[in-house]
Amino acid sequence: MDYDVLVIGAGPAGYVAAIRCAQLGMKTACVDKWITPEGRSALGGTCLNVGCIPSKALLDSSHHFSDLQKHAKDHGISFENLNIDISTMQTRKAGVVMSLTKGIEMLFKKNKIKDLRGKARFVSANEVEITAHDGKQSVVSAKNIIIATGSVPIELPFLPFDHEYVVDSTGALSFDKVPPRLGIIGAGVIGLELGSVWSRLGSQVTVLEALPDFLATADRDIAKAAQKILVKQGLNIQLSTKVTAAKVENGAVTVTYQNSAGEQTAQFDKLVVAVGRKPNAQGLGEIGLQINAKGQIEVNDHCQTNIPNIYAIGDVVRGPMLAHKGSEEGIMVAERLAGQLTHVHFDTMPWVIYTTPEIAWVGQTEAELKEKNIPYKSGSFPFLAIGRARAQGMSDGMVKMLAHAETDRILGVHILGNNASELLAEAVFAMEMQASSEDLARTIHAHPTLSEAMHEAALAVDGRAIHM
Ligand code: FAD
Ligand code: AMP
Repeated sequence: MDYDVLVIGAGPAGYVAAIRCAQLGMKTACVDKWITPEGRSALGGTCLNVGCIPSKALLDSSHHFSDLQKHAKDHGISFENLNIDISTMQTRKAGVVMSLTKGIEMLFKKNKIKDLRGKARFVSANEVEITAHDGKQSVVSAKNIIIATGSVPIELPFLPFDHEYVVDSTGALSFDKVPPRLGIIGAGVIGLELGSVWSRLGSQVTVLEALPDFLATADRDIAKAAQKILVKQGLNIQLSTKVTAAKVENGAVTVTYQNSAGEQTAQFDKLVVAVGRKPNAQGLGEIGLQINAKGQIEVNDHCQTNIPNIYAIGDVVRGPMLAHKGSEEGIMVAERLAGQLTHVHFDTMPWVIYTTPEIAWVGQTEAELKEKNIPYKSGSFPFLAIGRARAQGMSDGMVKMLAHAETDRILGVHILGNNASELLAEAVFAMEMQASSEDLARTIHAHPTLSEAMHEAALAVDGRAIHM
C-alpha cells in the first residue's frame, strides 16, 4: 500500500482529518480537485474558497461601510463623501482567501502529508485513480480511505444557473458592482448573510422564502426578534412565498411566485438561488458504497461506510452542513483509526448566522422541549441592559437560556446580539461539561463585557437577574 490513509477532499472536513492522521503517525495523502476561477488549484474546499471565509470577509467590509453610514455621526465622526470601491473590497476578500488556502499547503508540508491535486475515483476499496488537472492519470492505494467530498449548491429544476443573472452563492460572493435590485430565493443562513452584504452596500434586497416561519429551526423568540431587526435594516423578507418560475430577458430576471394573494411576479437585476446544498457523492466510482435517499453517503455514528476501510465525513454525510461539524468528524475518524475511542457530540453543535446582530445557538429550542415533554425553566436577558453593549451602541437582542426544570442542566442557549458567535462558545463548553444554569450563574464574568448577558440569563433562569 502507498499510504496508511488517503483523504479525498481538502475542505474543513478532509484537511483536518489528514492533519490529525499525520499527527498520529499515519502515512497520509490528501487529494483535491478544486480549481479557482483563475485556473489555480487550491486547498480548503467550499469553506475557504467560496463559503465561510469569503462570506465573512464581505460581511465585515459591508458592515464597516454601513456602520459608518448609520452611526459615524453618533460618535462625532464626519466625512465629506463615503464611498466603497467594490473592486478593492473583492481584492481584499481574495487576499484573505489566498492566505488561508496557502496556509493549509504549509500545514500539509509541515505534517508531511502528500498533497495530491486532481479528481479522485475509486477503482477498488483500496485503490483510487487520480486524474490530474493536466489529464494525467495515476492510481494510489491506501489501507483506509476517508471521503470528504463536501456539497454543491442545489439548482432549482425550473431555474438553471446562468451564472450571470441567476447565480448561486459563489456568484453572489463575486458581484463586481452592487445590483440595484437583488432577489434571493431562500431565507436560510446563506440567503440572509449574502442578502445582508449587498443590502448594506445599497441593493434593494427581496428574500423569497417558501416556509411560513422565519428561521424555522431557530428558537421562536430569537427568530421573531431577528426578523424585525433585519426588516428594519431594509431586507424585504417575504414568507410563505414559493418561487415557481423565472425568465431572463432584457438584462433582468422576472420571477413568478405564489403567496397568499395568488400568483405574483417581481423583477430583479440579479437573482441568487440559495435553497440549500446537496451532498457531492456522485462520480466516485462503482464500488458499492451505500448512498441514502438524500444522496448522502450512508455512515454509522463513527462515520464508517458499508465498506469497512472507507469512511465519509462532512457535508457528504448526514447532519448539519457546517464546517466545524466536518472537522470534528475528521478528528474522530483519525483518532479511531489510531485506536482511540473518540466521539462527536452532535447535541452540542454550535449554529451561527453572521447577520448584524448575529444569531447563534446550541442545544434545543423551547418548541423542541415542549414537543418532547421535557420540563424546563427559561431565563432571558436583553443586551439593552448590558453596559458594554450600550457603550458600543449595539444593544439589540438577548440571551435566552433553557435549563431542565428538575436537574437545572442547561438544555439550550439562544443568542441574538453583537458577537453572538463568540459568546456562544461559553454556552457550548458549559453544555459539553453538562453544566447547570447555576454553574454559569456562579461563574464570575468580567465587567463590562457582553458575556454578562450570559451570566444574567443564567441568573434569570432562577428569577434572580440583577440588572432587570
Ligand atoms: P467542502 O468544503 O465542500 O470540500 C470538499 C472538497 O472536496 C472540495 O475542495 C472539492 O474540490 C473536493 N472534491 C470533491 N470531489 C472530489 C473528487 N472526486 N476528487 C478530489 N477532490 C474532490 N459553514 C460554517 O460552519 N460556518 C459558516 O459561516 C459557513 N458559511 C458558509 C457560507 C457559504 C456562502 C457557503 C456556500 C457555505 C458556508 N458554510 C459555512 C458551509 C461550509 O462551507 C461547509 O459545511 C463546509 O465547507 C463542508 O466541508 P467539507 O470538507 O465537508 O466539504
Ligand atoms: P437552507 O437550507 O438553510 O440553505 O435554506 C434554504 C431555504 O430555501 C429553505 O428555507 C427553503 O424553504 C427555501 N426554499 C427552497 N425552495 C424554495 C422556492 N422554490 N421558493 C422559495 N423558497 C424556497
